[in-house]
Amino acid sequence: MNQNASQTLSRDQIRVRTPMRCPICQEHLRDTLIRDLGGVTASIVWQLHAGRCDTHGWFQTEVVSRPPREIFAVTKPFGAARRIVIEGREYFAFPTTWNDLPADERRMPVDPLDERYWQTKRLA
Ligand SMILES: [Zn+2]
Repeated sequence: MNQNASQTLSRDQIRVRTPMRCPICQEHLRDTLIRDLGGVTASIVWQLHAGRCDTHGWFQTEVVSRPPREIFAVTKPFGAARRIVIEGREYFAFPTTWNDLPADERRMPVDPLDERYWQTKRLA
């Protein structure tokens, strides 16, 4: 991927591939952003991922060395949490398959960006 000099100074990568999908319809997200919070400790993966579904709006999650346990609905990238109502039920967060693993399996070393752990239950 080609990046110009000004972009390499930014902590935000835009239109990048993220394992995150829309937790409602499972579509790939648009306008994806990854903000690297790892800073000085390069060995630790610490990132915020955000992206937008055309139908269901913005979502984001945080990766700290492990796959995320929940994906959150937000008003904008890195913005406030928002409520989504689906068939009369309110949702703020959507648990991932990683969240559903038994605790001893979550202690295994895994790639935090392995999309198998980022899946959510299909809601629509
Ligand atoms: Zn969607």
